Amino acid sequence: MHAVQGGTLLDVSMEVITLGVAAGPALRSTEGGICTAIVVDGAHYLVDFGLGCTRAAHTAGLRGKDLRAAFITHLHSDHVGELPAYLLWNWGTPVDGFTSPIAIHGPAVAPALMANGVPLHGTAGLVRATLEGFSYDIAVREADEARPALRGLIAAREIPTPGKDPTPVEVYRDDRVAVTAVLVDHPPVFPAYAFRFDTADRSVTVSGDTTESPALAALAEDTDLLVHEAVALDYYLRGGFDPVFVRHQARSHTPPQGAGRVAAKAGARHLVLSHLAGVAPPEYWRVEAAKTYDGPITVATSGMRFRV
Ligand SMILES: [Zn+2]
Repeated sequence: MHAVQGGTLLDVSMEVITLGVAAGPALRSTEGGICTAIVVDGAHYLVDFGLGCTRAAHTAGLRGKDLRAAFITHLHSDHVGELPAYLLWNWGTPVDGFTSPIAIHGPAVAPALMANGVPLHGTAGLVRATLEGFSYDIAVREADEARPALRGLIAAREIPTPGKDPTPVEVYRDDRVAVTAVLVDHPPVFPAYAFRFDTADRSVTVSGDTTESPALAALAEDTDLLVHEAVALDYYLRGGFDPVFVRHQARSHTPPQGAGRVAAKAGARHLVLSHLAGVAPPEYWRVEAAKTYDGPITVATSGMRFRV
């Protein structure tokens, strides 16, 4: 059994909403960009901010005032591209938005890392740049629309990079959930994390982007619901894509049979395939994963809800 250390968590049900299930940055279907909500006793937590997450969260009935914390698996744009819009559309009482501090937990990058002559930002830099880039709008609305100072409400919390250590670390805890992160393999992106949410007696694990990962299988031990990414490699192999791009798909993502193996190794009670890279019929994903996992499998679509 996956151990949660210390503190007392509420014995409450969980719901997972796959707000968006598409990989990117590409528009290959009508599905929303990757974003997953975990709802616990009326409060919710978000993992990643893919394209369309702001409207998807609103449509699902989620309001910023009930957001407790957010988590970023890694800094690929299809996971963080809509973070600025989400924050600006969920801020203050005029929009039922957050009025107390929200922590955004996500990756750091190595200090002083540069490319093309510019510094590379981790989660803190991304949030800082968002607040700076929209400073005019933010100042105007603070003065004119009874909105609290946004800068004081957004706290970027960079997860200390654990080297290559695949030992899970607790990154967040409140009275509802404990959230544990582990490094997964998504080269060349580093770090990339999976997150596990535990209540007193339920759990949900979200893979983030990864190849088939033993560390993820360990994190997800006995989990009630595993949300795992998947790639349809044939789509890229046969689609005339640049070989460098195809190589990225092959070495950085997990075919559905691999997701099934991780679910089986973990003893997960339900496998939900989300962050679907490439285009394939729903049956393809399910049949492939079922070759290696004999539990229930759901191929997620945007807005799908799961009682845990
Ligand atoms: Zn990625």
